Amino acid sequence: MKKDIKPLARPHILSMKPYSSARDEFKEFDKAMVFLDANESPFTNGLNRYPDPQQHALKSQLAKLKNLNPDQILLGNGSDEVLDLMYRVFCEPKTDHVITLPPTYGMYAVLAETNQVENREIRLTANFQPDADVILKTANSQSKLLFLCSPNNPSGNDFDQQTVLKLLENFPGIVVIDEAYVDFADRDSWTNYLSQFENLIVVQTLSKAYAHAGIRLGMAFASPEIIGYLNKIKPPYNVNQLTQLSAWRALQNTDEVAGQIKVLLSERKKMSAFLKTINFVKKVYPSDANFLLVKMDDAPRRYQQFLAQGIVLRDRSKQPLCENALRITIGTPEENVKLQAAFRSIVNEG
Ligand SMILES: *Cc1c(COP(=O)(O)O)cnc(C)c1O
Repeated sequence: MKKDIKPLARPHILSMKPYSSARDEFKEFDKAMVFLDANESPFTNGLNRYPDPQQHALKSQLAKLKNLNPDQILLGNGSDEVLDLMYRVFCEPKTDHVITLPPTYGMYAVLAETNQVENREIRLTANFQPDADVILKTANSQSKLLFLCSPNNPSGNDFDQQTVLKLLENFPGIVVIDEAYVDFADRDSWTNYLSQFENLIVVQTLSKAYAHAGIRLGMAFASPEIIGYLNKIKPPYNVNQLTQLSAWRALQNTDEVAGQIKVLLSERKKMSAFLKTINFVKKVYPSDANFLLVKMDDAPRRYQQFLAQGIVLRDRSKQPLCENALRITIGTPEENVKLQAAFRSIVNEG
């Protein structure tokens, strides 16, 4: 379905003129030129020049990997920056709103507050799926962004495909599918649907499966039109030189990453089976991610017991539908052996 995206963007963003950096105005990186245009230091150390504001090398590599065009890609300082740019392009403070589906990733709500945008929360169903009918009943022309975190953090499950399709077809605003954990799910990316849905943005990151949380690289994939709007307001040098270089290298090592994912999936399966044998574990939720949500008898108390054993888990028990639940990331096989030993010792403590 063709949707007109322009009316969803804030009018002043459409009309504004973006900052034009020295590197935007003169782009021929490959030629041996004398660059006296950006007040950089001329003394070469590998980092004395500003980075490429449009990250051409990285985007062309990503485009091949994701089967997209470079003009369908926006890169940012982590997904968090990319998500913030979406708020600022589409949401008029104190007028528009976003829809989020708790329990979910905390940054959507923080960014709503930062940007003075109302966050309409519609709880996931008891099995952590979006309630499409309630979402669509709540939505109106002020509903600019709908955040679908799939696989969802902290529940770990992937969202039902038919439900997502129904939302893509009928939601009046932009549907953002956050695929931070897609590499652990048994399905292809929603980027395959970009040509079909003008109002789709898919967000991914190098922070999880790609083992590069430290470099901060977030990615948005969308139509060239949406990417154009986001590009207009992004800080010119938002992805630094070191990040561009290490991201490029990380993306060369897809075989290594695939091997690591395989290990984590097999460890997840083993850990899930193990946890079901523990007497104070009440439920282990199914996971399509690199973590497990685990319901216990008394999560805050168990959390402290693991801390005393030198193991830090994430207490999600204050989140809706997550009463007494801890979130456990799948570690290396050695770490998981340690975690299991800690479980056994806590069982004995009582
Ligand atoms: C970890 C995570 C991210 C990653 O954010 P970065 O800023 O790219 O590190 C994004 N979305 C969700 C749901 C996450 O859990």
